[in-house]
Amino acid sequence: MADYDLIIIGGGPAGLTAGLYAARANMSAILLEGKDVGGEILNTDLIEDYPGFESVTGAELAQKMADHARKFGLKIETYARVKQVRVEGDRKIVELEDGTTHRAYAVIVTVGGEPVKLGVPGETEYHGRGVSYCAVCDGAFFKGNDLAVIGGGDSAFQEGLFLTRFAKKLHLVHRRSDFRAQAILQDRLLAKDMVRTVTPATVKEIGGDGTAVKWLDVARDGKVERIPVEGVFVFVGFKPVGRELFADHIDHDPNGYLITDQFMQTSIPGVYAAGDTRAQLAKQITTAVGDATTAVLHAERYIEELKDIERVFPEAPRDVVAKTASRMRILTFPPGSVVIREGEPSDRFFVIAKGQAVVAQRDASGAEREVGTLGPGDYFGEVGILSGNARNATVRAKTSLEVLVLEDDAFRALVASSQATSDQIGRVAKARAGVGGGAD
Ligand code: NAP
Repeated sequence: MADYDLIIIGGGPAGLTAGLYAARANMSAILLEGKDVGGEILNTDLIEDYPGFESVTGAELAQKMADHARKFGLKIETYARVKQVRVEGDRKIVELEDGTTHRAYAVIVTVGGEPVKLGVPGETEYHGRGVSYCAVCDGAFFKGNDLAVIGGGDSAFQEGLFLTRFAKKLHLVHRRSDFRAQAILQDRLLAKDMVRTVTPATVKEIGGDGTAVKWLDVARDGKVERIPVEGVFVFVGFKPVGRELFADHIDHDPNGYLITDQFMQTSIPGVYAAGDTRAQLAKQITTAVGDATTAVLHAERYIEELKDIERVFPEAPRDVVAKTASRMRILTFPPGSVVIREGEPSDRFFVIAKGQAVVAQRDASGAEREVGTLGPGDYFGEVGILSGNARNATVRAKTSLEVLVLEDDAFRALVASSQATSDQIGRVAKARAGVGGGAD
């Protein structure tokens, strides 16, 4: 089993972006892609809405993104199909279809999805023999033919535009009279003489001579109309597949898209999602690369925090540590600034990641005096939470200070996770609870 800090599953724009950032940050990371790198954009002819590239083919953009990530040293494994991801303590085990397993602290899922099928008779039978879900892949086989495009979204219009290079006639079949595609795409396609709109119309059956498609039956105005065509290109939506990789429960919306927080973290600590497999407003290359950037930057922090907590609380169960790390926030303080103040309510727990802090307490006369210094790996804030009392000390940044912060409920869960952890924290808290005791 190979060990990494981060595994990225999927090599489309989201995965390649996460990979680029991981490689530049010198993380121990691998990108696993089931086919060739590029993902969904390999099935796209021209991309005209990716800033900086007025017009670029999907294949060219995919190649540029992959070359860019590789240049910074990203390890990419193509034709590595992931079968399942499962959680073991603080690690994610990624099992490939060939039986290989990889292990990492964090996983970013960018596997996109697959086209939705119409589910009508003839669709499966003629798939690859006239029924297609990718104009860029198959359009050239239909030079001079009559074709049908099914759907009214961006894909139907964009792929339809590509098909006008080959088709004699293009029937645009949609279940409503209004199209949801972007106006610019509608204007371009509907202006072509060869395009005939067939709306509102429902596809009933795709038929042929047993070897190739010859016709399409659609219901319109209460009648069934037979349209002679050699090719039927179906673009009626997209089904995300990320959720299917998980043995454990992972939160998703009713359509199967993975639900994340603002950092792209899913309901499983250390598992992130970005791109078309994530529940979001728009499936665009721009949003995929932005979300992937957020995911990898947060994953990097998560991994660091996880390792810090494991160092500080070696006896805590690893699954609890993973959950704790996913709930931690990093705060930074300039030298001299107050992190907690004596007498204030005790609601958060702190672990020092970088820098030094001084602990001070007031004596009977009210004068403040320094009682200790804390450094990386030291923690404070536990006395007040465990006793239910106000802070019994002030902690100030001595140098520039970076602390991991945990809300009191997550801290209590960590304390309760094992007797050894509870004893460890209890011992420190007891020593500090007395006057002159130290850090809280
Ligand atoms: P989509 O936007 O969900 O559109 C699917 C289309 O199929 C809709 O017109 C829908 O009809 C129709 N439809 C759904 N189920 C159907 C059924 N069972 N029978 C018949 N028709 C059905 O999907 P998409 O076009 O694949 O686009 C997916 C995402 O990718 C979108 O967010 C899109 O903006 C994005 N995309 C962007 C670009 C770009 O150039 N920026 C290109 C391609 C895709 P209704 O309209 O009646 O619901």
